[in-house]
Amino acid sequence: MQNLLDLDMAGLKAWLAQIGEKPFRANQLLRWIYSRGESDFAAMTDLARTFRERLPDVAEIRLPKIVSDKISDDGTRKFLMDVGASNLIETVFIPEADRGTLCVSTQVGCALDCSFCSTGKQGFNRNLTTSEIIGQLWLANQALGFDPAGDRIISNVVIMGMGEPLANFEALVPALNLMLDDHAYGLSRRRVTVSTSGIVPAMDRLREACPTALAVSLHAPNDALRDVLVPINQKYPLAELMAACKRYLENAPRDFITFEYVMLDGVNDSPAQARELVALVSKAKIHCKFNLIPFNPFPGSPYRRSSRERITAFANVLIGAGYVTTTRKTRGDDIDAACGQLAGQVQDKTRRTQHLKVVNEVGT
Ligand code: SAH
Ligand code: SF4
Repeated sequence: MQNLLDLDMAGLKAWLAQIGEKPFRANQLLRWIYSRGESDFAAMTDLARTFRERLPDVAEIRLPKIVSDKISDDGTRKFLMDVGASNLIETVFIPEADRGTLCVSTQVGCALDCSFCSTGKQGFNRNLTTSEIIGQLWLANQALGFDPAGDRIISNVVIMGMGEPLANFEALVPALNLMLDDHAYGLSRRRVTVSTSGIVPAMDRLREACPTALAVSLHAPNDALRDVLVPINQKYPLAELMAACKRYLENAPRDFITFEYVMLDGVNDSPAQARELVALVSKAKIHCKFNLIPFNPFPGSPYRRSSRERITAFANVLIGAGYVTTTRKTRGDDIDAACGQLAGQVQDKTRRTQHLKVVNEVGT
């Protein structure tokens, strides 16, 4: 039984050929499933009757299950989804005046173990499948519906939920293809942002296979500190990461990389470190913007969030050097829309309670 949500256009065509059906049916199927949000084959009325009647024997549309759906006072909406065997992931919708952004997960847990990240502390459980990644968008679209003008409410997607997307490359790319395909969601490449901790070879592969907007989690201006905060740096140090960013920009839908930088009090947030950061990116000649993320503490973490004054002083150094710099707002606090938070509470009431705050200001 083939779950159709696991296949992008190319995959669907190959599968149709394999079962002896015409490849053009792929367009029809994508339109029904994604543009129209239909999951019942019987309702797909313009499919040839013989094909429509055959479909339930060979295919299914299997989605994660929404186990909770909470809306914050500020409109942030958090879906907790069950992907089987008590594995829970979360998907967060962030409404803003000019756009609606969905923050999507790619793994249950994460193996990379960044020292300030609660998902990392949870360890790695498994990769999500393509259907579980695109299924988050499908379900959120169903739940959110359309605005009065008939437009979709979700205009942007950021791959910044639980997990490292580029460590799940094979499942990620077909899901991205479906986000971009005109027969499916038809989002522009500029409105889909992949966030990575810096897996250099996979950044090159993404550039070739499916370039989208890119956010890179930098968090430190030198290798000594980044080795501690983002351990994957020991494998792909800053010089390699900067070179990969530069290569990525040659083929990217946007002409800048967004560097994410979590603000950890007394660890990486001094004006001198801001100057070191400017030196790093200007020496590498990377066209970039900065997104400063106030640290979201969780029990057992050794870090504290930088004060507002320190964040402003840090930002001013970057802005003074000519770099567009935003500070991420934290939203959805009243419903624990901090990524990882609710899933953690359900899975392990004692160990994990809080994780990072939801994103905005990236992927406009
Ligand atoms: N694995 C990817 C994407 C998911 S994490 C990555 O690391 O980029 C999304 C963003 O949240 C990353 O920039 C990550 O560094 C940041 N983050 C993780 N834990 C955090 C915390 N406790 N407080 C604030 N930001 C955090
Ligand atoms: Fe994984 Fe990203 Fe968390 Fe690092 S910050 S442990 S890469 S999810």
